[in-house]
Amino acid sequence: MIEFRGVDKRYPDGTVAVDHLDLVVDAGKVTIFVGPSGCGKTTSLRMINRMVEPTRGTVLVDGRDVMEQDPAQLRRGIGYVIQQAGLFPHRTILDNVATVPLLLGWNKKQARKRAAELMELVGLTPEMSGRYPTQLSGGQQQRVGVARALAADPPVLLMDEPFSAVDPVVRENLQDELLRLQSELGKTIVFVTHDIDEAIKLGDKVAVFRVGGRLAQYDQPGALLARPADDFVDGFVGRDRGYRGLGFRSADGLPIGELQTVTLGSPASAARDAIGDGWALVLDSEKHPQGWLRGTELPSGDEPIAAERLVAGGSLYDTDSDSLRGALDAALSSPSGLGVAVDGSGAVVGSVSADDVLDKLKAARADEDAA
Ligand code: ADP
Repeated sequence: MIEFRGVDKRYPDGTVAVDHLDLVVDAGKVTIFVGPSGCGKTTSLRMINRMVEPTRGTVLVDGRDVMEQDPAQLRRGIGYVIQQAGLFPHRTILDNVATVPLLLGWNKKQARKRAAELMELVGLTPEMSGRYPTQLSGGQQQRVGVARALAADPPVLLMDEPFSAVDPVVRENLQDELLRLQSELGKTIVFVTHDIDEAIKLGDKVAVFRVGGRLAQYDQPGALLARPADDFVDGFVGRDRGYRGLGFRSADGLPIGELQTVTLGSPASAARDAIGDGWALVLDSEKHPQGWLRGTELPSGDEPIAAERLVAGGSLYDTDSDSLRGALDAALSSPSGLGVAVDGSGAVVGSVSADDVLDKLKAARADEDAA
């Protein structure tokens, strides 16, 4: 889909920003360019939409040399998201998102309708439509930036350190949202970051750059961690990389334990003996988790168990699709210390414990070392 063939970029002052880059970006996947600052990631990214032109070699998008395409037309198929979102300060959120459809000649009503759909897609509420960028948090502004880049439904999305300016918690949320969006949209995403954790979490493939604009290694995250090509990659990927390996290790065979559950609206008397002073997970009639209830918080007598008494749960571990990291997140974020395991339909199937996840990680690593 996107291909770099023997690409160099030398700036007029003589700086070699990119040195003989050969790389194929897979269509419909997330490819990460990661490396220390100044190693040519942004320059490489901008050669895809011709904001920077190569000094030597060829960049192909959909098999066609970008230098032989009209830049405006090329960019119509390539969304672009930058740090701090780059929003227009004097336009409302809705009009910021509608910018590209309007440029493409849609009428105002259509463009705004599309913008409203996109806002919903990226998790922004309709009330935000009429606000201005400074009236949103940093994380919300980034969502607007993503919505705007998606407005013309481009097959390719370039993202340059889009989440670097927000705090770590918001950043994690944005990363999770991006993965959710991508599972729906299947865009070809090229994403620049200096954060190896972000690279490993988001990337289907990760290109590690070194200073001097050279590609050090290009591989799937698991391979990068297990088999760094040299000392530079090894050092960059980090010492505690075994723990980072959680994200791509399958959780198949992880023990699913029992979980005390009660149904929302059922009489407290039925649950009292079973829960005691401990925790129970409260389910709706379809077995979807609603929150946790502590035994000491049970209403008296036969009063029904009401939503107001519940403590919010943490993340859920989807047994059909999640990795060990998903299981560990669920266990660590649950008020009871037990992670909630659900099936693909969101119905609760049992619990997972952090100890079991770490035991499984140890066993997986021992197997790999033996192999
Ligand atoms: P990264 O994105 O990895 O931080 P960049 O691609 O921005 O790296 O920059 C690579 C190198 O090219 C750096 O040494 C940077 O200073 C240099 N550089 C970037 N843009 C220009 C420019 N317009 N003129 C001269 N040098 C530049």
